[in-house]
Amino acid sequence: MQNVLKDTNKNNYYKTILIGTGAAGLYFGAGVPCGHGKDVLMLEKTARPAMKLLMAGSGQCNVTHGGSIKDFLDCYGDHGSRIRTCLYKHNNLELMSFLESLGVPLTEREDGKVFPASMDAHDVKNALMEACAANGAEIRLNSSVTQIKDLESGFEVIVESIDGVSKNVETYTCTNLVVATGGCSYPTTGSDGSIFRALRDDLGLKIEEPRPALTPVFVQDYQFGELSGISLKDIGMKIAGLKKSFTGDLLFTHKNLSGPVIINNSRYITTGSRLELNFVYPENVETVTASLKKAAPGSSRSVTSFLAEEYGLPKRFVSKIVELALSSGSESADKKLSALSGKEISALARSLAAAEFSVSGLGGFNVAMVTKGGVSLEEVSLKTMESKRYPGLYFIGEVLDIDGDTGGYNLQFAYSSAMAAADNIFAI
Ligand SMILES: Cc1cc2nc3c(=O)[nH]c(=O)nc-3n(C[C@H](O)[C@H](O)[C@H](O)COP(=O)(O)OP(=O)(O)OC[C@H]3O[C@@H](n4cnc5c(N)ncnc54)[C@H](O)[C@@H]3O)c2cc1C
Repeated sequence: MQNVLKDTNKNNYYKTILIGTGAAGLYFGAGVPCGHGKDVLMLEKTARPAMKLLMAGSGQCNVTHGGSIKDFLDCYGDHGSRIRTCLYKHNNLELMSFLESLGVPLTEREDGKVFPASMDAHDVKNALMEACAANGAEIRLNSSVTQIKDLESGFEVIVESIDGVSKNVETYTCTNLVVATGGCSYPTTGSDGSIFRALRDDLGLKIEEPRPALTPVFVQDYQFGELSGISLKDIGMKIAGLKKSFTGDLLFTHKNLSGPVIINNSRYITTGSRLELNFVYPENVETVTASLKKAAPGSSRSVTSFLAEEYGLPKRFVSKIVELALSSGSESADKKLSALSGKEISALARSLAAAEFSVSGLGGFNVAMVTKGGVSLEEVSLKTMESKRYPGLYFIGEVLDIDGDTGGYNLQFAYSSAMAAADNIFAI
């Protein structure tokens, strides 16, 4: 049935309106000081708040990382140092004690990732929702903000809400407007990037082009589909044209390259990028060549079992590398070390320590865990998250041009930025 458009033209005023009840929005609502909640309206486009938070960490919700907050600065690509103040002021220890104060005990895994002790994202969401309610902040669901107007002393927001089959259009005004609408990844959760049009067209703000990040990478002529599920620890990766190089775990999937070293650095990769992977890092072409040359003379060992043992690699992976590197194809896996020619040794060393791939594409927004791009950092005071051009307008969480690595860094930024905005608005 077609929606019936009905303009109720209500001129509702709230001191603070927040758009989007994802992680950042709920942290904001939960951080509103007692007594101020009745002045806060939280508008959510979908029927269910925090859908993405519930997916975080495969439903277990990796809320942050342990260790020194200083180490976080390297986990947001080139933007980490720009959000230093906000991260330091509202750091990982504060996030943890905040959640524990809301009744969510936490646990830190050996790898530093912090989760609710129950390993259930619902506990985080429920605690934040309860805190929003306890503070008196009102959450209005099925309410999508479509336009924002600057009134000089505040803002007017146009909201389309679905009530059964009728679509209502309402107008709200506020002194402070907090935009917490997320990026474009997993658009079915409500974060579809539609707010960027309003921010660009209505307010003239600079939006860095949203691109998928924390996403797998497709390469031309992918030969590793049959190794799906195999992961290699601490490989090295270079991206042509970039000075820095990367290390981390690699995962082969049916169709693409994934795992932390790929997805954390997908922010630097585009179609056409050339990748050089070193599966035996920190060894290199020269050291692999030298060790093959040393081991080969008179040896009846198979090349595959020698390399698998020498570099601690899965046999199935090495067998594939040997097959691809040596001209004799699938029979080459059984080739004896002593039968290797100088040319074959060089080919093997390159395939192991400097394998080249040409990127044919990246996983799109349907699979990317975060969005690179969004509201330009130039537009915002990164101490308070307030717009430089429009006092009273704030941006928190992934709507900003900040994308973190996997490991809890994105939810940490959602928290840190939300608290920075709340501090400024409520002058704590
Ligand atoms: C599968 C997956 C797993 C992840 N795991 C982790 C993890 O373990 N740890 C971690 O740190 N990060 C993780 N992330 C990233 C993290 O979840 C996000 O960075 C974080 O949720 C962003 O929070 P946000 O509040 O800024 O945006 P979102 O959570 O995207 O919330 C934005 C909200 O705004 C609403 N909205 C959008 N437009 C409008 C509008 N016009 N009007 C009204 N409402 C609107 C949306 O419906 C949505 O509810 C994961 C992401 C995915 C997809």
